[in-house]
Amino acid sequence: MLVKIGNIQIGGPQFTVIAGPCSIESESQFQSTAESVKKSGAAILRGGIWKMRTSQKTFQGLGRDSFDLINKVKTHVGLPLVSEITDIRQIEEVASVVDAYQVGARNMHNYSLLKELGQQPKPVLLKRSFSGFIDEWLKAADYITASGNTQVILCERGIRTFETATRNTLDLNAVVYVKKHSNLPVIVDPSHAVGIADLVPQLCYASAAAGADGIMVEVHPNPAAALSDGQQALTPKIFEEMMLQLEKVLNAFDRGLNRI
Ligand code: PEP
Ligand code: MN
Repeated sequence: MLVKIGNIQIGGPQFTVIAGPCSIESESQFQSTAESVKKSGAAILRGGIWKMRTSQKTFQGLGRDSFDLINKVKTHVGLPLVSEITDIRQIEEVASVVDAYQVGARNMHNYSLLKELGQQPKPVLLKRSFSGFIDEWLKAADYITASGNTQVILCERGIRTFETATRNTLDLNAVVYVKKHSNLPVIVDPSHAVGIADLVPQLCYASAAAGADGIMVEVHPNPAAALSDGQQALTPKIFEEMMLQLEKVLNAFDRGLNRI
């Protein structure tokens, strides 16, 4: 099954890299991140508009105040955008700026949201809940496809285990299992899985070797100043170096990067 975001087909032989900041913070932050990840070979942008933060005291995202800057950056850079919606009411209003809707880990069980997205004309990136069984994740995807939208991409983003040294535990079992038991494309979000920037590149390579259809990686021009998830963001320079190694891993499996 191929899923198309903008002009990029996910789920074919090529490997797709989605990259960008955790949150869209300002025009200059989003613009410089978008330019640099494109130059390094990313095919799709990410960036949060509304954030599902554990604490309501932390940055909640720019919301609709970011729409103008997003359109400017997208026109300038020429890459499609995937962004999370946290509420049914956001689906319509964000349609003018996003090319695919992201359902976050905390909303994998939000069946009314999934059913509504099943009636939309844009693809959906469905993250696995940090406590979701693979079976529940696939059944959550069924809520979208059964409502008419077959353009669904699954995203493994780490699960909670007894381990506390890393933010979550990347479940590569799930990636290889789902590749075998579902016809939907599967990508990996190593940033939220491990939560430590230094460890992200190796998990990108492992995801490629495991046969994932792509990765979604957080990148920030100045991670120390990021308003969310700075500890797991790659700098543009590290991202560039990671992409060079990633291509070598892909080549070893007779694959390459999906380029715009
Ligand atoms: C995100 O991608 O920024 C995010 C909040 O991810 P998750 O829903 O996997 O926690
Ligand atoms: Mn994040």
